[in-house]
Amino acid sequence: MPTDEDSLRFMRRAIELSRVHMEAGEGGPFGAVVVKDGQIVGEGWNRVTSSHDPTAHAEVVAIRQACQRLGTFQLRGCEIYTSCEPCPMCLGAVYWARLDRLWYANGREDAAAIQFDDEWLYREVALPAEARRLPSRQLLRDEALDVFRAWAKKPDKTPY
Ligand SMILES: [Zn+2]
Repeated sequence: MPTDEDSLRFMRRAIELSRVHMEAGEGGPFGAVVVKDGQIVGEGWNRVTSSHDPTAHAEVVAIRQACQRLGTFQLRGCEIYTSCEPCPMCLGAVYWARLDRLWYANGREDAAAIQFDDEWLYREVALPAEARRLPSRQLLRDEALDVFRAWAKKPDKTPY
């Protein structure tokens, strides 16, 4: 666990990244760092518009960098500091990465006040598929299930 001083330092770095790269015109005002054993192992900032990537949110970018640097697909033993409470995609990424803890600065309501509103997406995710505004339909389940069965029997897979 970081000391309080460390936590403030890491969060200030996340906020600094949000400001610097927002001012440089690279994307929205969001920054994040991943920390392991008191060291920053990944840094990210929003690059959605500059990299033509709707998934390039600060947290996802920081998680990708940390995983590359550490040569792993899971970040157990790491914590993430993000300048804003994560959207559902990033929250999912934090869970998938198995991060130990999430720290955030701005809240969802602060983001909504500057037109980055995640509330609708949080609501959508909680709805049953047929009630979501995104039309979705199941197709060719049997053919896709063949692949799942093959995975289940695959002797040399890397489970995660
Ligand atoms: Zn996000």
